[in-house]
Amino acid sequence: MRINPTPQGLEIPWQDIETVLLDMDGTLLDLHFDWHFWMEYVPQMYAKQNHIALEEANKIIRAKIHSQQGTLNWYCLDYWTEQLDLPITELKHELKHMIQAHPEVITFLQRLRTLGKDVVMVTNAHRDSLAIKLEMTEIGNYFDEMISSHDFGMPKENEALWQEIENKFGYNPTTTLLIDDNLQALQSASDYGIRYQLAAVHVSPKMEKIDPKGFPSFENFNEIMP
Ligand SMILES: [Mg+2]
Repeated sequence: MRINPTPQGLEIPWQDIETVLLDMDGTLLDLHFDWHFWMEYVPQMYAKQNHIALEEANKIIRAKIHSQQGTLNWYCLDYWTEQLDLPITELKHELKHMIQAHPEVITFLQRLRTLGKDVVMVTNAHRDSLAIKLEMTEIGNYFDEMISSHDFGMPKENEALWQEIENKFGYNPTTTLLIDDNLQALQSASDYGIRYQLAAVHVSPKMEKIDPKGFPSFENFNEIMP
């Protein structure tokens, strides 16, 4: 954690940063879509399919989701399709009009490209989830690489993933910044030796801000615009 807050805002050493690793959900995109999908839409569909009360379906879904937190399954549409016996990817398509990028995201990504930074998405999202989000937003146009941790069989919470990505794509951790709303991912990246971390705390206008627990943080991309 080498980014220091000053009274004028965060002091980001852009001249030292060659590669920017960016998370997708919550960081670039409004997390409300995912929250609504898993906490409201999936329980409704589960209740309907199993002829049970919504309240009971809520309990079951929440318990199942909770049990997989921090694992790759948590993000895996195939896992949930099988576990819940619901066509999860199809259901996501039904709600895809709700997918939205945060304000200033495109300007920020354009700016990184203008400055010649390597811009790499690293997401725990499943490839099918990623595809829907790229279909509904413009963010896909600005990345040199888009990496789903599923391709490596481990989530960002696992320090070994950063090594796998380095082996395959050859970034230099000492000149790399990770921007993420997942504090465990920021921590594992820091433990691995990725020098700069920023926590995106404003995951959705409809949800509470997250507590960055000591990581330097921002709410709007305007605050960190290079
Ligand atoms: Mg995220």
